[in-house]
Amino acid sequence: MEGIIPKFAIEAPSVVVLPVAGSDAVFPVRRVYCIGRNYAAHAIEMGHDPDREPPFFFQKNPDNLDPSGEFPYPPKTSDVHHEVEMAVMLKEGGRNIPVEKALDCVFGYALSLDMTRRDLQGEQKKLGRPWEIGKAFEASAPVGPIHPVSEVGHLDQGRITLTVNGELRQDGDLNQMIWKVPEQIAYLSDYYELAPGDVILSGTPSGVAAVVKGDVMEIAVEGLGSMTVTVV
Ligand code: MN
Repeated sequence: MEGIIPKFAIEAPSVVVLPVAGSDAVFPVRRVYCIGRNYAAHAIEMGHDPDREPPFFFQKNPDNLDPSGEFPYPPKTSDVHHEVEMAVMLKEGGRNIPVEKALDCVFGYALSLDMTRRDLQGEQKKLGRPWEIGKAFEASAPVGPIHPVSEVGHLDQGRITLTVNGELRQDGDLNQMIWKVPEQIAYLSDYYELAPGDVILSGTPSGVAAVVKGDVMEIAVEGLGSMTVTVV
């Protein structure tokens, strides 16, 4: 197909792109992987053992990423939780990537939220069903501008926080991740072929809780600044 401009049978969906801090270039998104229970204190608050069991991942859709700074309260739920996370954007991929080489794949890092319809996720967990209805809905992943590694280096420690209307709700450190970023990349690459444009949400510290319309969330990661996301 190379060199051939396809004739689409329907209107073609647009490529999802995210802003890059200090650049007029944008980052095109391919896939979105999210790790579950990756901070011990959060695993405990969700009723699980914080021991280092193998990691697990679910996916959101590329067009669930939303850099607008607004989070539209989603339908069919009355319990939407915030989960502040650091997002990792890949510039390279592959299969069976060794842990020692994994960081070479990283283009940059961004602030993000894994917004969750906790009531729906809970029902799915009880039934042993997939989580997508609780996790992968419209605008469910607010995201800030991407800070390239060339500007900020690699982030393996630093405070990660979330406030709601000025009140501190989540307060952790990137160094509390059970599975570190290079381990997440290596693990994923054993199961999937990773590629440029892939995004990984690297887990949330404890303190997840519900938001309501009108709430203003401020998320911050040391080295990436902060951003506000308003629930509308
Ligand atoms: Mn999460």
